[in-house]
Amino acid sequence: MLAAVVGINWGDEGKGRMVDLLASKFDIVARYQGGNNAGHTVVNDHGKFILNLIPSGIANEGVINVMGNGMVIDIEHLCGEIARVRDIGISVTPQNLRISDRATICMPYHRLLDVLEEERLGSHGYGSTHRGIAPVYGDKYMKKSLRMGDLLHPDTLRRKVEELVEWKNMTSVRGYGHEGVSADEIMEWLDKYGTPLIPHIIDVTPVLLADVKEGKSVLFEAQLGALRDIDFGIYPFTSSSNNIAAYAPIGAGIPGCRLDKVVGITKAYSSCVGAGPFTCELFGEEADRLREAGGEYGAATGRPRRVGPFDAVATRYGVMIQGADELALTKLDVLSMYKEIPVCEAYEIDGRRVDHFPVGDSLDKAKPVFSSVEGFNCDVTDCRRVADLPDAARRYIDYIEKASDCHVRYVSVGPGRDDYVDMDE
Ligand code: GDP
Repeated sequence: MLAAVVGINWGDEGKGRMVDLLASKFDIVARYQGGNNAGHTVVNDHGKFILNLIPSGIANEGVINVMGNGMVIDIEHLCGEIARVRDIGISVTPQNLRISDRATICMPYHRLLDVLEEERLGSHGYGSTHRGIAPVYGDKYMKKSLRMGDLLHPDTLRRKVEELVEWKNMTSVRGYGHEGVSADEIMEWLDKYGTPLIPHIIDVTPVLLADVKEGKSVLFEAQLGALRDIDFGIYPFTSSSNNIAAYAPIGAGIPGCRLDKVVGITKAYSSCVGAGPFTCELFGEEADRLREAGGEYGAATGRPRRVGPFDAVATRYGVMIQGADELALTKLDVLSMYKEIPVCEAYEIDGRRVDHFPVGDSLDKAKPVFSSVEGFNCDVTDCRRVADLPDAARRYIDYIEKASDCHVRYVSVGPGRDDYVDMDE
């Protein structure tokens, strides 16, 4: 079984907790894109912790975690993250954490360039997390980057670094009026943070292919949501990689394999970090109330998230481009405060109702068409079976199923691993 767990909306849908839950049924969990620019929050027997780079299967004993070729890895951050995870009693070894030798290294100068460019853009910035993601993906496609496998060849590393640093200073760093970076400092950084990772670095492709052939199951873990995909998202307010499910086998290292199942994660309401069009956005007290109830502050950055009700237009689009077979609807408990649950059922552009997700300038012009669904208005955190859910909650779940055109399989009612209802049970 090859399955992907992907975000249907703008990210922060609760993918980490769903992967943590589902991972116990899989042999391998593979991250296939992105870097440390977003956090996945996991709450289980080890407490509450946030993973930025390490796949969310790490807390499940016996699960092999793979960081695929589609990822960009800040090795300094990864060393810190491994230490934090070990501190809470989770074992991280070359056996349970394997890093693709084809994954790209996110260098200190990528972080620097991210900051310099957002400063230059000022109020027109993209809302970058300053983790170097756009610059490093840019360099990957310019074929001017180091890959994790380069750390295995110290004899040629210095020459590669010198060439990269010369080009980087010439083409960009000094262009911002910065003094430039030196090969010596980069070599020191690579030595300090790259050396401890060497035992984890392998060519994951033959290993994963052999595992799949043997019948082992793989869970592919996405970072961010469908609307942040570089091609199908709200460009340029997207991430810099393809995060949709179709890319999962490619970014994980087994491009010829086909997915058996796509589980889409969508929240019972909407949230969005950073800039860009977010049609269903609520403002003022209404927004503050929902933000507080849902604890909507960035896992990686602490930034308050923009919030809104469930967005039928964006969710249907997310389901479609992800090819989702079923949905996990998270954070239903957060809506217990509402007598009437607000929803965004359509958009309006130039006075016309629109039911499909628009692109570019049309999206910028879109206004929300709000309506509401009867609320359940009571605590649902103890619900574990369908029969425990109040009728109104079941009707809200039915509404989401119809509006998103996808079966809701799981409904989560709290952050803990077991706080969920399997609607098919
Ligand atoms: P991810 O990046 O998609 O994994 O999502 P985040 O970790 O950024 O955000 C999800 C947040 O919601 C985390 O703080 C989770 O602990 C929390 N969470 C997940 N599921 C539920 C739920 O069903 N109810 C509540 N109240 N919180 C949840």
